[in-house]
Amino acid sequence: MCGIIGYTGKTEAVPKLLDGLERLEYRGYDSAGVAVVSAEGDLQVKKSKGRLSVLRELLDSQKQLSGNVGIGHTRWATHGEPNDTNAHPHVGQEGKIAVVHNGIIENYQEIKQSLIRKGITFSSDTDTEVIVQLLEYYYKKNENLMDAVYAVLDRIKGAYAMGILCSDY
Ligand code: GLU
Repeated sequence: MCGIIGYTGKTEAVPKLLDGLERLEYRGYDSAGVAVVSAEGDLQVKKSKGRLSVLRELLDSQKQLSGNVGIGHTRWATHGEPNDTNAHPHVGQEGKIAVVHNGIIENYQEIKQSLIRKGITFSSDTDTEVIVQLLEYYYKKNENLMDAVYAVLDRIKGAYAMGILCSDY
């Protein structure tokens, strides 16, 4: 079982997200990641295969991710091997929306093929990526995030909990 954490508040999100993920470690996982939106509205993502300590080292070794809103995830792979690319969060091709997800999207192949036919490029082997690519597809159409979320929920079948982060919010 994997874990999801979200944070919005007055302080930096990354330390809160990492603390939250640490509390969920007991559930088991194979990779971990975080996404935050900066004060300038940039969506930034860091993720890696392995323990949270690997993610912490990655974050420490690079320019600090800064922002007061974010989501984090510990993954237990069901679709796609445990690696850096398949780790969550996943980001849509427009780079506006990030998603973390627990569970399985049973009809992901059908949705993936229909999005590929529309010219959308996938970068991971996960079922999860269809959520974010579909979400961005609908969001681009009418710029209403909640309408896009409901449209996605109408399409996907399976078991899921998710965290969604959009750089416009
Ligand atoms: N099915 C998703 C994946 O393989 C989510 C797995 C999970 O619940 O961590 O990435």
